[in-house]
Amino acid sequence: MTKLSRNWFSQWSGDEKEVLYEVQGWPTNMVVDLESRTCTCRFWQLTSMPCTHAIVAIQDKNDKGPEEYCHEWLTMDAYRRTYYFNIFGKKKGSPAPVPPQVKIKPGRPTMNRRKDKD
Ligand SMILES: [Zn+2]
Repeated sequence: MTKLSRNWFSQWSGDEKEVLYEVQGWPTNMVVDLESRTCTCRFWQLTSMPCTHAIVAIQDKNDKGPEEYCHEWLTMDAYRRTYYFNIFGKKKGSPAPVPPQVKIKPGRPTMNRRKDKD
């Protein structure tokens, strides 16, 4: 995302909290709000991870790194907490799955490849 953000230029809107930025580029300009963590492209709202436009604004503000604007659930700590009890779980008593039995159909097996119409 940081690499993709090279073609965008941010412009602070001049608000008191210094959280609103207009990010200019092709095909249209975007509005980034660093406080509510939103962008008009809606990528940030959908993924909880800053989009290219947000990264340009974050770099312009220069208070925290883009990683710190990611949601907590995207961190390795959250990932490890999620799977902490499952990866090293005990084996259950149920039998392991087995593949289905192959039935050999009557007659000589087809040797020619089935070709497409075209
Ligand atoms: Zn965006």
